[in-house]
Amino acid sequence: MTKASEPSEHEARLQALRDAKVVLVSACLLGEACRYDGRSQRSERVLAALEGKEVIPMCPETGAGLGIPRPPVDLSGGTGVDVWAGRARAVEREARMDRTEAFRLGARMALEAMQRFGATVALLKEKSPSCGSQRVYTDGVLRPGEGITAALLREHGLVVVSDEDL
Ligand code: SF4
Repeated sequence: MTKASEPSEHEARLQALRDAKVVLVSACLLGEACRYDGRSQRSERVLAALEGKEVIPMCPETGAGLGIPRPPVDLSGGTGVDVWAGRARAVEREARMDRTEAFRLGARMALEAMQRFGATVALLKEKSPSCGSQRVYTDGVLRPGEGITAALLREHGLVVVSDEDL
């Protein structure tokens, strides 16, 4: 059980973000129109939280070569952790095309960028099959869990903060 004097996981994530000098950030939160529907998800709260920090903008999906706009993709059979364990996939919602390898590639690119620039904290967009870190759509239902990029970063000991944490 968590003692009253210990920070909550939420507060620990926020403190890690406050302490970080370099942060990898979902590019859509910075105003880049890289979402599947060709829009951005610019967040003033995110921009304010990053003031004075070095920022690594990253969109794992477009980084892996997926276009803008692109068909929406859902996780199928589990969350991002299950994808890395080989138990789940990333599948286009309508055409059912399997995009798992592109999503894995984008996640590896994010990990490599953090390692190259010495970043230990990522600030990612919630509910995305790549960037979600607390809730993701699995087989059409929003459930607790991580996207494919968030899961890989956490597996490597990196801190993932959600835009909804702010
Ligand atoms: S993959 Fe991540 S950065 Fe790219 S549009 Fe989706 S949520 Fe934003």
